[in-house]
Amino acid sequence: MTIKSPEEIALLRLGGQHLSRILAQVAEATKAGVTTGELDLLARDLIKQAGAYPAFLGYAPEGGKTYPAALCVSINEEVVHGLPGKRKIANGEVVSLDLGLRYEGLYTDMATTIIVGEVAAAVKNLVAKTKEALLAGVATVKPGTTLGDIGAAVARVAEREKLAIIRELGGHGVGYAVHEEPLIPNYGTPGKGPKLIAGVVIAIEPMLALGKGKAKLAPDGFTYITRDGGLAAHFEATVVVTETGVEVLTAII
Ligand code: MG
Repeated sequence: MTIKSPEEIALLRLGGQHLSRILAQVAEATKAGVTTGELDLLARDLIKQAGAYPAFLGYAPEGGKTYPAALCVSINEEVVHGLPGKRKIANGEVVSLDLGLRYEGLYTDMATTIIVGEVAAAVKNLVAKTKEALLAGVATVKPGTTLGDIGAAVARVAEREKLAIIRELGGHGVGYAVHEEPLIPNYGTPGKGPKLIAGVVIAIEPMLALGKGKAKLAPDGFTYITRDGGLAAHFEATVVVTETGVEVLTAII
């Protein structure tokens, strides 16, 4: 884990404010009939206007393909890393929007899930409780919190709601790069794992699903989908560990 200086945290705070405003605008534009590619272009424009740079565009994970967009748009059974394109969003769909940016050299990362039109009560519950799981994870953060504490708090909400946890993916350190150590699982044992200290910046990102929640990479080489087609939701925030607790650097929307 890397420790960010107060000056760096001040810049991450500004970057997080830009990112929160931009993702809120992209969320507002997420409506039936809009293509995912149009949402990506909107995100790119707003990032440019903010004097920032898209974090995911050109990002290549070790052994993976280079990502060619700014925004990830993951619909229904798509969990994360959905590539924007010609697909039109339809009523009754669940759309996860994940966006990262680099501002003054420092990275923040966030995600939200939008319900478009009318959906079943179970789907509304999936989305609401995935957000609650993020809030529960964030609420544990302070110096001395372990990664197991965060994971256990997220998992407690999922288990209570009988929602499946996507275990193949998790949160991560962030700031100097879009993905830093450590990996932050959305499950865990309280008190176990590395301990957080002040100045650590992490992205917490529960991904929950209806069905069994087993994920796999789709044939496009980017998108993670549920194996059983169960709908998935995803919320993410970048937070910094402070001397006394936690500060959320991006909004939770
Ligand atoms: Mg992330």
